[in-house]
Amino acid sequence: MKNYYQPEIEIMPLDQLQALQSERLKEQVKFVYENVKFYHDRMDELGVKPEDIQGIDDLHKLPFITKDDLRDQYPYGLLGVPLEECVRIQSTSGTTGRRVVAFYTQEDLDVWEECCARAIVAAGGTKEDVCHVCYGYGLFTGGPGLNGGSHKVGCLTLPMSSGNTERQLQFMTDLGSTILCCTPSYAANLGEAVNERGLRDQIKLKAGIFGAEPWTEEMRHNIEESLGIKAYDIYGLTEISGPGVSFECEEQAGMHIQEDHFIAEIIDPDTGEVLPEGEVGELVFTCITKKAFPLMRYRTRDLCRLTRKPCPCGRTHVRMMKPKGRSDDMMIVKGVNVWPSQIETVLLNQGYQANYQIVVDRVGNNDTIEVQVELTPEMAEDKSIPIEKRQKKIVSGLKSMLGITVDVKVVEPKAIARSEGKAVRVIDKRHLYQ
Ligand code: ADP
Ligand code: ZN
Repeated sequence: MKNYYQPEIEIMPLDQLQALQSERLKEQVKFVYENVKFYHDRMDELGVKPEDIQGIDDLHKLPFITKDDLRDQYPYGLLGVPLEECVRIQSTSGTTGRRVVAFYTQEDLDVWEECCARAIVAAGGTKEDVCHVCYGYGLFTGGPGLNGGSHKVGCLTLPMSSGNTERQLQFMTDLGSTILCCTPSYAANLGEAVNERGLRDQIKLKAGIFGAEPWTEEMRHNIEESLGIKAYDIYGLTEISGPGVSFECEEQAGMHIQEDHFIAEIIDPDTGEVLPEGEVGELVFTCITKKAFPLMRYRTRDLCRLTRKPCPCGRTHVRMMKPKGRSDDMMIVKGVNVWPSQIETVLLNQGYQANYQIVVDRVGNNDTIEVQVELTPEMAEDKSIPIEKRQKKIVSGLKSMLGITVDVKVVEPKAIARSEGKAVRVIDKRHLYQ
């Protein structure tokens, strides 16, 4: 087994872990009831008293909180401590609407950075490593989270922030970066840039910690090939702390949720009913150690499933499978549910890179959907296969994946804008007509 950062917590026997969660939950419920008016009122409405929550088996009695509630309570409505106890504000990326701000005490920051540190260690990081962080810094949690985690592990930290690919490559080669932290879409761009410039022999990367957006196994494979690394998934959201709520170990088979701080549930998104382990549903988190922004039963809108199957790495924390995307990422096109990740799988299986865009529109009463994908440079050179033939093959692959006919446009290499943070895959013009 590897040198774990906190073996006593990460490989704690399940009964002890659950006892710890129960004890923390009990205290946390009392804390929010006394300190957050929103929870006080909601619990009173439901007739639930803090004493009714004696442990994790009582969790389901508590009310949910949604992103709309967060927006209603903006900015200070959910604070659990006086503002002068807070030392940091971060904000969501605003991918699906108005940004939400979250607050942190120093202890909250320590918890968050600790989780990121565990993620770096799980990816093989030690104090010998040079950790190259090119998630965005600032209000976005990606940069600050991994930066703090990297310090805790003792890595030499490069706070690159996102963008300026030339500078990224220069520092990566000059300073011998060994661990890369960014969004998977930016990792794919860096992989492309490294190979185009023939720098593959000059980089020392061994691992990457990529998250903040959904990505497929096919994309993982491509990034691992192009950079010669092992690519680890990391998940998190600002509302719960930031990256590091869960992360992959060397098995790369689901992300261990940091259950000593966050309790996960999977619910039916329509009824709110808690689903048994293994079923796909909406992920809900309860923070049991946070004080400044102490959300309980927060509905993430991320759809995935959990497994308690023992992991060969020895960690006992439950694993969440790659989220398929958010319930809001799912498009209904021509009456059929379409996930961007399904389209990505088809394209990458046919040898394309993740340089694609999906445009959904409406003509009269009918939905239209067009997938634009770039030829790889090798494909562009190989004139033996006509573009029409390539397009037809994608149309037929998408038809069997989705059950609908999608228009496909194969475009020249570099025709689609590259992302430096979270990639924008879908342009849905239909809301313009509502
Ligand atoms: P926003 O909700 O505005 O995008 P955040 O920057 O806090 O704000 O992003 C959190 C969201 O990003 C998560 O709820 C999830 O949908 C997505 N996300 C984060 N990490 C991953 C990951 N590893 N895989 C899939 N989706 C992820
Ligand atoms: Zn594991």
